[in-house]
Amino acid sequence: MAVKAADRLAGILSGKGFVWLVGAGPGDPGLITVKGAELLRNCDCIVYDHLVETSLLHYRKEGCELLFVGKEKGRHSMVQEQINELLIRKAQEGKQIVRLKGGDPFVFGRGGEEAAALNRAGIPWQVVPGVTSATAALASAGIPITHRGVSRSFHVITGHTRQDGGLPEDFYHLGQCGGSLVFLMGLSHLEEIARGLLKQEMSPDMPAAVIERGTLPGQRMVRASLGTIAEETRKAGLKPPAVILVGETAGIDLGAGNRGPLEGTRVGIVGTEHLVNRLRPVLEELGAGTSVLCSMEVVPINSREREESCCHLQEYSWLVFTSANGVRLYLDGLLGLPDGEKMLDLRSLAHMKIAAVGEGTAKELKRYGLYCDYIPKRFYTRDLAQGLAGILKPEDRVLIPRAIKGSQELGEIFAKAGVSFRDLPIYDVRGHFNPDIQDRPDVAVFASASGVHAFMEGGGKEILADVPAVCIGEVCGAALKAHGIQAAEVAGEASAEGLAEAVVRWKTGKIPVK
Ligand code: SAH
Repeated sequence: MAVKAADRLAGILSGKGFVWLVGAGPGDPGLITVKGAELLRNCDCIVYDHLVETSLLHYRKEGCELLFVGKEKGRHSMVQEQINELLIRKAQEGKQIVRLKGGDPFVFGRGGEEAAALNRAGIPWQVVPGVTSATAALASAGIPITHRGVSRSFHVITGHTRQDGGLPEDFYHLGQCGGSLVFLMGLSHLEEIARGLLKQEMSPDMPAAVIERGTLPGQRMVRASLGTIAEETRKAGLKPPAVILVGETAGIDLGAGNRGPLEGTRVGIVGTEHLVNRLRPVLEELGAGTSVLCSMEVVPINSREREESCCHLQEYSWLVFTSANGVRLYLDGLLGLPDGEKMLDLRSLAHMKIAAVGEGTAKELKRYGLYCDYIPKRFYTRDLAQGLAGILKPEDRVLIPRAIKGSQELGEIFAKAGVSFRDLPIYDVRGHFNPDIQDRPDVAVFASASGVHAFMEGGGKEILADVPAVCIGEVCGAALKAHGIQAAEVAGEASAEGLAEAVVRWKTGKIPVK
């Protein structure tokens, strides 16, 4: 089997330099070849550029060197000769190198030049072909590149020449060759491409399509006729990377059923890293593109007060949690996790009853093997406070480990009802804006009330001037309201899935089929 062979060869060659020119596929990390992934797992060094999906780099073994040679903001990309030299130098050091390139290495990837340079230097190499965006981006948009009785050939053309970045002269004959014309690197010349083809008497009614970020979350497409495609694409604001298709098959729609209901939707997230890591894959699975607008850092507060409360657990009869973060931080701290230094035994809570504000918090408790004695019917702090006040006995004492900026209401209701309680601040929430946000999102998602406050107070209000907001629960919705924003949709269930479902409801008016 090819994979075994690749593996074996890597083993035999270890200590001797070797370069694998590996196609990373069009974007979706699942579209790398099995052989390519296997080589990523085994190599000593990965040389990659900007069209490569960075999640592929997670395949690497410990100690594998990562070398980025693509364009970074404000910095010029390495010129091809420098990349060739780098590959030769690393191979001469005896390294097994994967030169990872977007799509297929030999489709406008300059892989051929790298191979030729390696030949000249006497460095052994092999190519591992990849799935090219030229066909995959169309397929992922429900367009077949050839179709019986419609298109019998396809031509893949560069929209960018080496000399001056303009269009090649022979380009103008393309109008005559029929079949599907696929342009890569052509977005900035789309108008010129369309004009050139029209000049060759191609009909202005010829179907055309432009697909941005094919196979990736946030994939977008514009379909129009050759006469209008440039204008429609400009209006939609499509950006590279994008492929352009001109030809009859651009009029075929096989149904983009393989993309989710959030295709083309850009979702900005405000939440903790924990939430973002759970929410992102769910949204992307549904077809959305995601970015983090503001990441919330949960900072534990390890005060004397907290330590001392551990020694007096016997005095309390109820433990009340108002967030999943509170559960995690309190219990990890209590048990000495994650540093492993044992502090208390979980059984020191055995005498206490436990209440949680909602399902998300209760779920977190279950992970520690703790089941709630009380959850209010509606997941508000107010309902929690009123509900508990109704069932607590005069001799009960309540401990509330929670955020330093937690809702005032809880304490007020308890005080009024004469409940004996202790508010124990165990964490603070700080917001960090993402300075790299370039595109305005179509919708912003808020995962906590503290996130809303940190985001708004940090200047997020401007960003959100006309972006609809979806939030995780009524408490979070109320926090938005306090800043003059009416939530467009509120998640019924306080979880990543619940939030994603709310975004779909906002987009389609429907609940996604599970
Ligand atoms: N070797 C690559 C192409 C490199 S040229 C391949 O086989 O796919 C870079 C061009 O590829 C981009 O300008 C764009 O036209 C196209 N491209 C790459 N990834 C793409 C994607 N996910 N969606 C749409 N076009 C893509």
